[in-house]
Amino acid sequence: MKKVFRDWLRLGGLVSLMWAQMLCPVNKNFLRTSFVALSGFSFRDGGDTLWVPLAVHVIEKVAGEIPDERVGKQVQILNRDYAAAKIQFYLPRYGPGGVPTCGVTRTVSPLANHDWTSEEDTLKRSVYWPPDSFLNVWIVSWMPMQVIGYARALGDTVSLPGVVLLGDVVGEGPGLRSPYDKGRTAVHEIGHVFSLMHPFEGGCRGTTPATCAIEGDEICDTPPQRQAHYGCPSLSTNTCQEVPTDLPDPVTNFMGYVDDGCMTHFTPEQIWRMRLFLLAYGTILISEENKQARGFRATLSPSCGSLSALGSESVNASGQGREPLISGAKILGLYDSAGRLIWREGGEKLDMSTLSPGLYIAIVMRGGIVFSHRLAVGCP
Ligand SMILES: [Zn+2]
Repeated sequence: MKKVFRDWLRLGGLVSLMWAQMLCPVNKNFLRTSFVALSGFSFRDGGDTLWVPLAVHVIEKVAGEIPDERVGKQVQILNRDYAAAKIQFYLPRYGPGGVPTCGVTRTVSPLANHDWTSEEDTLKRSVYWPPDSFLNVWIVSWMPMQVIGYARALGDTVSLPGVVLLGDVVGEGPGLRSPYDKGRTAVHEIGHVFSLMHPFEGGCRGTTPATCAIEGDEICDTPPQRQAHYGCPSLSTNTCQEVPTDLPDPVTNFMGYVDDGCMTHFTPEQIWRMRLFLLAYGTILISEENKQARGFRATLSPSCGSLSALGSESVNASGQGREPLISGAKILGLYDSAGRLIWREGGEKLDMSTLSPGLYIAIVMRGGIVFSHRLAVGCP
């Protein structure tokens, strides 16, 4: 969840933390256990672009509140911000049952006033497309408690997976809710759908090479931070002490709460985790068969004129985070997916041929900085 929080900020970090935890409906227990469960999979991330069809459901108080152009712009923003992850989104040409579509449904309904504390399922069940074949996005007119978006991960069965967004933060430009007016709420929430947590999850937990991959946000290249930051914090902000190298907070990460204009990226490990999660829990969603059934095209059909130019064929980022180990790195230890230390050495090489299939976390030191690399061992 990403939320408007500027007034609360004055009350101090403790209150922010408390509220952030109270208000974030991301199912963290699910994210943790489901990701660990991936160790049962044996597959390899080939590094291809993963194409995700969206089903955008606009639930409005008055018809036309959220124009098509805003939806189109939002998809462009997603594709820009997910380009480094080689995850791309498109609006399908065929909906459920092969019915031609522009990928957007519109419903005028009192559910547009969305009390997410009690009406998540009511809203979602009112209109959705099969969640194994589409990533559903619901856009509403109003939500209580200053919430501007929330998410549920793929595979979560408590309610339908997907993202709920406040209309005021969809797309980009004047008229949107500043400073959440650059389309980054959707970027952040879809990060949750693909299993990412906030960098401030658990506060200052996971500060060591042995714990960074299994505590906090379970991501080693986002140093822990004590609480959510808001506004546009200084790059030197540092609220937790890591060992052996203390690093500043990841204040520009997409998974934080800072202003849209001040968040810039996912880290290589976050990208690795999202892709692996998508490969495991979005098998049908990203499949070639689904692409065919949805009439995949990087741009929309001409009849969806104002939603045009949605795709991006020019993804050129490297498949970062996939290389097993990096030359010149010293390997400090290897953990299995349950977090058990199974190998400790100081060498530069690790013989992976003896490992049984599954996920592993290698802690390596490179240039004086400790990194964690997740390794998938399995059938090619
Ligand atoms: Zn969030």
